[in-house]
Amino acid sequence: MSEKPNAKNAKIITVNCPTCKSPVEWVEKNELRPFCSDRCKLIDLGAWASEEYKVPGKPVSEWDLDEVTMGNENPTLQ
Ligand SMILES: [Zn+2]
Repeated sequence: MSEKPNAKNAKIITVNCPTCKSPVEWVEKNELRPFCSDRCKLIDLGAWASEEYKVPGKPVSEWDLDEVTMGNENPTLQ
């Protein structure tokens, strides 16, 4: 990635990392934005996933299995 001299004059927006609240430059080359690092991104995704599993009642995976089973019972005989 070659940086043009003019790029330093460009106004860069800074956001706070959702995980650790560190300032993150909102630039195109930062594929992890709004996260500051891959680690913070994984932590956030992990927290999101664990919240899903905290839903009381049937585990999400069982609902998915039911849907798959019903889908297979469609009259699409070969
Ligand atoms: Zn972070």
